[in-house]
Amino acid sequence: MDSLIRVAVVGAAGRMGSQVCRAVEAADDLELVGRFDVDDDLRDLGGADVVVEFSVPSASPDNVAHCVGQGVDVVVGTTGWDEERLARLEQQIADSGHDVGVLIAPNFAVGAVLMMRFAEQAARFYESVEIIELHHPNKVDAPSGTAARTARLVAAARRSAGLGDVPDATTDDPDGARGARVDGIPVHSVRLRGLVAHQEVVLGTEGETLTLRHDSFDRVSFMPGVLAAVRAVGDHPGLTVGLENVLDL
Ligand code: NAD
Repeated sequence: MDSLIRVAVVGAAGRMGSQVCRAVEAADDLELVGRFDVDDDLRDLGGADVVVEFSVPSASPDNVAHCVGQGVDVVVGTTGWDEERLARLEQQIADSGHDVGVLIAPNFAVGAVLMMRFAEQAARFYESVEIIELHHPNKVDAPSGTAARTARLVAAARRSAGLGDVPDATTDDPDGARGARVDGIPVHSVRLRGLVAHQEVVLGTEGETLTLRHDSFDRVSFMPGVLAAVRAVGDHPGLTVGLENVLDL
């Protein structure tokens, strides 16, 4: 079948990568043409149209740059893409001479994307907002990419509504014991056996609170979003950040 999209997975031996391999193999319109992990050479991507990258934050920028240099579209789930890394990638795409698309999403679960959207909508109505992200203990980064992105969206919504910074609690917190701040929004990270990926956004104002909560209980929850991104990335040249850009929300 000519219309099959050929997919290679980088980080294929990992928890997410192996799940992506299974999901690609089960999809009628996709063909798995390569599995790559830490010691593999990415110079021959097996004729892939799209690479799905779920590795580690320290390796992801080089892996993605490698694919871009070969004119192959990339769907990236690895976290750690701060503003500086994104700017460098955007330049690499521009310099590559290829009409290549890269889609980076800190969270491929549709419910998480909706939670971020709802948090953004609610942000301007509440004086205070804090984010609690809860993950399995093997997660290497904190705060999570989803929490960082939610914080940035919420902060931008507050700014455009003319709200100032989230006020500090009265507790003095010189050592950051209450958690990190991302773009001025407090973020708390919990690492606990039994958890997969969870997040709460708690908004409060006089006399009321609103809690938005999303739970991924299994990594299969990310697969519809990953496959939607694989199918869409070819129609989105350049850099796209966030699954919401390819979902019809
Ligand atoms: P994992 O540790 O199970 O897997 C990572 C894999 O990457 C391992 O097999 C490792 O050997 C491999 N790897 C290490 N260095 C590499 C390199 N240089 N090149 C290629 N592969 C390399 O981790 P995981 O739970 O699968 O998560 C992977 C990443 O995805 C993390 O950054 C995690 O936070 C992120 N994540 C994102 C989402 C999302 O929806 N965007 C969901 C879950 C996890």
